Amino acid sequence: MTLSYQAIDIPFEYRHTCWFCGEPYYESFAFMPSPNYDNQASPVLVPCCEECYGFCRTIKVSGLDLLRDKVKEQLHKKYQKHLQIGVNWTKEELEASEFEGKALEGFRESAWKMFEIAKGRVNYQGWPLAIDGQPLEPLHGRFHVQFDGITYTSLNQAIVQLAKAYDIPQPYLEAVVEVVGRDRLAYAIRFAKTTYGYSTAEREASIASLKALLAEEEVLAQPVANAEGIQVAVGEIKELILHRTLIPAHATQWILEKGITSLAQLAEHEDTFFEHFNQDSELTAFTYFTAMQIYLEQREIDPLWADEQDPNRALFERLQHNK
Ligand SMILES: [Zn+2]
Repeated sequence: MTLSYQAIDIPFEYRHTCWFCGEPYYESFAFMPSPNYDNQASPVLVPCCEECYGFCRTIKVSGLDLLRDKVKEQLHKKYQKHLQIGVNWTKEELEASEFEGKALEGFRESAWKMFEIAKGRVNYQGWPLAIDGQPLEPLHGRFHVQFDGITYTSLNQAIVQLAKAYDIPQPYLEAVVEVVGRDRLAYAIRFAKTTYGYSTAEREASIASLKALLAEEEVLAQPVANAEGIQVAVGEIKELILHRTLIPAHATQWILEKGITSLAQLAEHEDTFFEHFNQDSELTAFTYFTAMQIYLEQREIDPLWADEQDPNRALFERLQHNK
């Protein structure tokens, strides 16, 4: 049996780089799909770092996109502790913390770096695949989920990892996400974290009250007939951080222009929102949309904050007057 290899094209700037995670190159993994649905004739050589090479050797899948996802999942697993640093701390908190003793000081100095390296590796996108200048089918990432700046290969994987990171029983977090919907992961985690007690009876009671809460929200948030929006220059809009999420000025500008002031109205405009921001990229649209959900939710649950602290409160007031 003769076996020829096809090497994927490597752009000059990536010539010493792992395609999976961006770390320095170690060796190419000869990937052969298994099961081989498309009857691929010869293995494809994919550049790897030492670690990803090791992962690849233990993985049997039918396509490169699945191989990439499995490698990412292994990275998530292996560096779970490092990724959790970002859950437990912000950079500023860590810098300000007063760890004492040599070992702890060492932790403080290296912790954020370890977090950023792990985050960079799981989020790394590789480069578009081509062989001899012929692009391969673009790999899809349609099941990918982003949360708090970290990409997960699927909603399932996100739940498994986040349940660990936030110390929430996984079946409970699953149940909560099922009720609130996959687009409201942050809300689901906040709810699950503030639930009292995790016994079966307590969980059932919490889920029941969550359902009641959502039903109430839906009634309260009956979309008001769409009011006139206002045109505001991007420079006039302040960016802010809420729940570790940047609230981007461009997205805020868009909702002001559409006269959106509530989550319900945002939901009504979901399609047009994505249509508009997908022009930048799917990831941008998704990130912006999540940010606007967080922003409007904050304004809804904390009206005092909305009236007195929101740096864009004057703009929202203008919008209200306009209605
Ligand atoms: Zn790698």
